Amino acid sequence: LSFTNPPLDLVLLENIEFAMYTTPTPVQKYSIPIVAGGRDLMACAQTGSGKTGGFLFPILSASFSQGPRSPPEAAAGSYGRSRKAYPTALILAPTRELVSQIHEEARKFAYRSWVRPAVVYGGADINQQLRLIERGCDLLSATPGRLVDLIERGRISLANIKYLVLDEADRMLDMGFEPQIRRIVQGEDMPGVHDRQTLMFSATFPRDIQMLAKDFLKDYVFLSV
Ligand code: AMP
Repeated sequence: LSFTNPPLDLVLLENIEFAMYTTPTPVQKYSIPIVAGGRDLMACAQTGSGKTGGFLFPILSASFSQGPRSPPEAAAGSYGRSRKAYPTALILAPTRELVSQIHEEARKFAYRSWVRPAVVYGGADINQQLRLIERGCDLLSATPGRLVDLIERGRISLANIKYLVLDEADRMLDMGFEPQIRRIVQGEDMPGVHDRQTLMFSATFPRDIQMLAKDFLKDYVFLSV
């Protein structure tokens, strides 16, 4: 019941109930209304704070009611041949473990909806990941390097992105992912800052993260929990 303000999609609420989450964590309590209200967000939150639900719940709730978006190529009838995935939500995180955890949560909470979650990360067989994303890739959790590879191979397009999340942004910078992140977020494929909603999560807020926030977010709400 405490996840009902702001109102979330009923299918999502059932999935939340099934996961036995009864009360939002502090980061969820504040981030869900901000994101549901359409604002960009810079949140300082630690692992274990429940930040995954803090971004997944409002994104899934809005996605469930908005319904699927057709790929730009569909009008030309080339979607079937191009075998290219057009996710509407993208979550970037630094490690295989983290993107896998986010993907598991996404699967749990996207249950019985049209949203098909997918995950890609480096250091694993790319062909197997390609077969999986071909089966559906609406909400993609990815490590930056592997995603750049798939974009360059022409197998993923970011042209349909409505929601972009950078999770553990400070760790991604510590691991040297800044060039790949900029290639993804500032690439020609990605909708501009006014045509997407962007959320950044970081445990710390040093200068380099402030710079990323300035470059990737618009008129954002700053949340520290
Ligand atoms: P996170 O910080 O998103 O990695 O979440 C940490 C852990 O808390 C995960 O195991 C979640 O499944 C769990 N969790 C997140 N939100 C809630 C909630 N509102 N109620 C109970 N457990 C939660």
